Amino acid sequence: MPGVFQLPVEEVVDEARRVQDLGLQAILLFGIPAEKDEQASGAYAENGVVQEALRAIKSKCPELVAITDVCLCEYMSHGHCGVTRIDGDHFHVLNDETVELLVKTALSHAAAGADMVAPSDMMDGRIGAIREALDANGFDQIGIMSYAAKFASSFYGPFREAAESPPQFGDRRSYQMDSANADEALREVALDINEGADIVMVKPALPYIDVLWRVRERFGKPTAVYHVSGEYAMVKAAAEKAILDERAAVLEIMTALKRAGADIIVTYWACELAQWLCEQKS
Ligand SMILES: [Zn+2]
Repeated sequence: MPGVFQLPVEEVVDEARRVQDLGLQAILLFGIPAEKDEQASGAYAENGVVQEALRAIKSKCPELVAITDVCLCEYMSHGHCGVTRIDGDHFHVLNDETVELLVKTALSHAAAGADMVAPSDMMDGRIGAIREALDANGFDQIGIMSYAAKFASSFYGPFREAAESPPQFGDRRSYQMDSANADEALREVALDINEGADIVMVKPALPYIDVLWRVRERFGKPTAVYHVSGEYAMVKAAAEKAILDERAAVLEIMTALKRAGADIIVTYWACELAQWLCEQKS
C-alpha cells in the first residue's frame, strides 16, 4: 500500500513520537511475528512483537493511547482468525479454543502496557471472556474496543497482503458478516455491548455508512469506524492518476464519517489529516 510500512520495534517509537507531536491521541498496533504456527503462539508471547512495541512506546510516549489489535490471523500459519480443524473438504474455526487464545493475547497486551484492546476476530463470546479475564487480573481500567460489525468485504485485500495474512484455504465468510444484512450487524453490536464493549466499531467505513449511523443512533455508545485498506488504496490510485484531488477527497470522506456518527476514525491518513486540519485552522 502506498505510504504504509511495516516498522521494526525501534522505529515504531519514533513513529509514535511523530504521531503524538502531530496531536493525534491514539494508535492501533498490529503485529507481524517472525514465525507463525498453528497455535498463534506469537500473539500471546511475553516477548511478542506487539508486547515489545508496547513497552517501548509506553516508556517514551506514556500519554499516547495504545490500542492493540487482538486477533490470531497474523500469527497463524494458515492465516485464519482462529484455531481451525479440517474435516475432509471442510474447515471449521473452533470458537471456544480460539476465545481462550484471544483472552491470553489480550492479557499479555494489558501486561505490556496497552490502554485498550481491540478484538477483531468476530468469535462468539470473546468480549465477555476478555472483560472477565482483564477484571480478574487487575486490568479493570483497560478498555475494549470491539470490532462489533465487521463485514466480509472485498476492501480488505491490500491490508491482508501488508499483514501477510491472507487465508491459505477457505475464506472468512463463516465468521464475518454478510454485507446485505444490517439487522444482523445491530444484533452483534448489542451482544458486544452487553458483554462489556466500551467502544463498538463498524468496518469497513463508506460502504457501511448506514450501519454506522444506525449503530450510533440506536446504542448511543462511543462508535468507531475503520476506513479500510481498499478504501484507502482506491483514493490513492485515483489521486496518482490525477483523477481525484487526494486532500479534498479525504477531507470529504472523513467529514461524511463524522456526520454519520463516528466518534473515532481508524484511518491510514491519520498523520496527513492532522497536518491538513492544522493548516486549515491557521
Ligand atoms: Zn483476524
